[in-house]
Amino acid sequence: MKRTKISRILGTAELIGSDVCVKGWVRTRRGNKYVQFVALNDGSSVKNLQIVFDMNKWNDEELKAITTGASIGVTGKLVESQGKDQTCEVQAETLEIYGTADPAEYPLQKKGHSLEFLREKAHLRPRTNTFGAILRVRSALAYAIHKFFQEKGFVYLHTPLITASDCEGAGAMFQVTTLPLSNLPKTETGEVDYSKDFFGKSTALTVSGQLEGELGATALGEIYTFGPTFRAENSNTPRHLSEFWMIEPEMAFYDISDNMDLAEEFVKYCIRYALDHCRDDIEFLSEHFDPELIDRLEFVLHNDFVRLTYTEGVKILEESGKKFEFPVHWGTDLQSEHERYLVEQHFKKPVILTDYPKEIKAFYMKQNEDGKTVRAMDVLFPNIGEIIGGSEREADYDKLYARIQELNIPMKDMWWYLDTRRFGTVPHSGFGLGFERLVLFVTGMTNIRDVIPFPRTPNNAEF
Ligand code: ATP
Ligand code: MN
Repeated sequence: MKRTKISRILGTAELIGSDVCVKGWVRTRRGNKYVQFVALNDGSSVKNLQIVFDMNKWNDEELKAITTGASIGVTGKLVESQGKDQTCEVQAETLEIYGTADPAEYPLQKKGHSLEFLREKAHLRPRTNTFGAILRVRSALAYAIHKFFQEKGFVYLHTPLITASDCEGAGAMFQVTTLPLSNLPKTETGEVDYSKDFFGKSTALTVSGQLEGELGATALGEIYTFGPTFRAENSNTPRHLSEFWMIEPEMAFYDISDNMDLAEEFVKYCIRYALDHCRDDIEFLSEHFDPELIDRLEFVLHNDFVRLTYTEGVKILEESGKKFEFPVHWGTDLQSEHERYLVEQHFKKPVILTDYPKEIKAFYMKQNEDGKTVRAMDVLFPNIGEIIGGSEREADYDKLYARIQELNIPMKDMWWYLDTRRFGTVPHSGFGLGFERLVLFVTGMTNIRDVIPFPRTPNNAEF
């Protein structure tokens, strides 16, 4: 008999009265000498299916292997349930044990293991309700992202993960090399001779696909990337990973205000999609971790994001009278505490800050007439701080070239990028959304290590 997923069984009344076959992992078994109840989960839903063993027909020996974590297959009649916790249940007729799980060793015995404990068991934590829910939400969000851009006619562009330009500027890079570390080839002047390396030059893992994204946008019009990025920043925070996924749309003929409109529409679409398609999972997470989660998601959907300049934002922070850990004044990069103050205390809405001092932003951002600021935009969210960073790009060859010189960025690496401004340059804009920051927001989790299956952070590359 063909297996039916538990999500389907619980999602329809149609199957009641018919025979079904279900397969999954045992969450619990309880009962007495007359009847035994098994809660079965197959990963398709946060909800378990109840399997009932009538002990007139079964004996203890046959059910002995049904312990928490064991994998089983059951066929039987699906009937309405007498119990108040579920609508239907399966009356077991046949049982197949696929794999046992020794109760003395299987680590996920009780409910309510701490998230810290589960991080140490990341190879098994997808078997918990919490991580099942998070991983299904993550998957649905990934789908929503493609759906959003594809329906708008954006082209999905695959930018390289290995890059030779060390000027992407978004963070410290992981080097990629096949040179023998214990016996490095040296040049006459004593430096490492990268001409002997695999690619004939020094290479690293990308921190952003943007520069190549711009090549795509200035040919295809509107593109997006969605892939892994790597940052060797030694920042052990609840919002930073060394390997994370980023979505980077890049659009020709968009100015910064078109860019902000797209960013706002995009995140709202993703949140709406998750609420519509992952209701059970989000309700479960809300119930167990964050009672305000659903209200917060609805709130973001139903409010326009506040738009103001960095200069105005800093003024509000200075006048707030609040003692921040990092003092704030015009010219400093905003810390998470500042961003969250603006969003959570002052406006009580998501905020888009624009026009940052050029010194704290990347070289490619469009320079404003004031000579001091650039057309950057950061989208700031409650609980998260920065969720999106973007800008209108400098489309003028001379201005871009001057900035590159000013910052001493190695020109030989940048010739191909500058060609976009030499041949058919256009106004264009784009942004980067850290996928895990979006998943954090939608699931109500507070540590980024809990929204990616196998997190990579400083000193941790387990599993
Ligand atoms: P932050 O100031 O939070 O470190 P950033 O300014 O370095 O962010 P960008 O370079 O603009 O970020 O990257 C675009 C987006 O990628 C950010 O808005 C954020 O959502 C996400 N992001 C950046 N660094 C990380 C990281 N180490 N782990 C997870 N997501 C990240
Ligand atoms: Mn950063």
